Amino acid sequence: MAKLREFAVLDSIPQDVYDRVTRLAARLLDAPIAVASLIDEDRQWFKACSGVAASNMPREWSFCAHAICQHEVFVIEDASRDERFSNNPFVTGEPGLRFYAGAPLTASGGLNMGTLSVLDTRPRTITDDQKRMLADLAAMIMDSLETRLIIDQEERTKIRFIDAMESLPTGFVMYDRRDRLVACNQRYRAMLPRVAEFIVEGVDFESILRRGVDSGQFPEAAGDEENWIARLMRDHQAPGARHEHALPGNRWIAFQERRTSDGGIVGFSYDITEIKKQERQLAQLAWTDSLTGCMNRHRFMELASIELERTRRSGGSACLMLLDADHFKQINDRNGHAAGDEVLKGLVQRWHKVLRSHDLIGRVGGEEFCVLLPDAGIEAASALAERLRASVADLPFHFEGQLLRVTVSLGVAALAPGDDLNSLMRRADVALYEAKEAGRDRFIVKAA
Ligand code: GH3
Ligand code: MG
Ligand code: MG
Repeated sequence: MAKLREFAVLDSIPQDVYDRVTRLAARLLDAPIAVASLIDEDRQWFKACSGVAASNMPREWSFCAHAICQHEVFVIEDASRDERFSNNPFVTGEPGLRFYAGAPLTASGGLNMGTLSVLDTRPRTITDDQKRMLADLAAMIMDSLETRLIIDQEERTKIRFIDAMESLPTGFVMYDRRDRLVACNQRYRAMLPRVAEFIVEGVDFESILRRGVDSGQFPEAAGDEENWIARLMRDHQAPGARHEHALPGNRWIAFQERRTSDGGIVGFSYDITEIKKQERQLAQLAWTDSLTGCMNRHRFMELASIELERTRRSGGSACLMLLDADHFKQINDRNGHAAGDEVLKGLVQRWHKVLRSHDLIGRVGGEEFCVLLPDAGIEAASALAERLRASVADLPFHFEGQLLRVTVSLGVAALAPGDDLNSLMRRADVALYEAKEAGRDRFIVKAA
């Protein structure tokens, strides 16, 4: 017997369907009464009535309770002559029913849950054609149910998909095989606020990129927009690798895509701003001399090599200086190591004020520093060397009430054809040696 749960399914059929089919049954079979009903253990429940007003009745009086036990149309031509119905109050009393024909409403799986029936107050016969019509109309109600169930099922699947997508800890986006957006979650949109409103179903990937470039969502594209878009399109068409992108406000996202089985693409994005910040801090630590805050030897050599290579390609000029504190051992001996440290810090502070923003300075030994002057010829380098020297010699350093007089010697070398960083440093070192030999507190320049 049908359970209430299954009735709930039949209840999901729009009332219109019951009404229309019931009206149609009355017309097609030329009957004064037609009803569509559901039947449970106790009662018959009327879903739609044509020619009679009823809501429910006990099962024992129900003609339809017999019809749902059949697999075909159940017919009573004259109820008053049928011992099963001759005492039925609807036969003996109002409305004086005599004829009944009912087709079961059969759910897929074979369960009969209700009936579509036509009734008359006079005895009648019914042709096979009419029986088929009634059975067809009953089937239409059930077809409507199947359609409804499929729609419901799709709706439920969609809700589940959206739920899962929104629960992901990453941004999520999905494109179909023609590269049109199928779905994305709020996290994904929130990562790209300048184009969030534009990221909707049906928009293709390239349009999102272009809109993002136009709105400044992808600052790394600035100045090279078309190449940047072309590169991202290439990456997108060959998904798999993880890519990092800078966003406005010093934010960073990582983005990784995968091909789906139907030729589409899914992408995952996650915010890596914090990781990037930590990476930068670590790099900073690894590149910096902890005492003076300028570059350490390793970092200086790295950047100076890159800079010299650039200069060599562009055919420009550059000079390199080695700066060494004079008699520094004596400072440590007389005033203590801490005083020496303070002087080393002070040297770098003073030199920073003299140097140009694009000059590179690194600590390459204990009390020895190296400066690369890009785009500087011998004259400019000499002038700078003198200012660096004077910035130290002209003013004593203070440490815990002591006055520390310090001087430095400098060796300067100008970049010559065929030079690399090492050969340039060697010449600067020779110049420095000569400056020391000549009495210290001075600079000596070595041309090529
Ligand atoms: P010169 O004029 O010939 O360069 O003489 P100098 O004494 O400066 O040269 P030398 O190479 O003999 O000694 C360098 C001194 O620098 C010895 C060392 O103790 C000191 N020094 C190196 N690194 C540090 C440092 O980090 N802190 C301090 N306080 N002293 C340092
Ligand atoms: Mg020295
Ligand atoms: Mg030295």
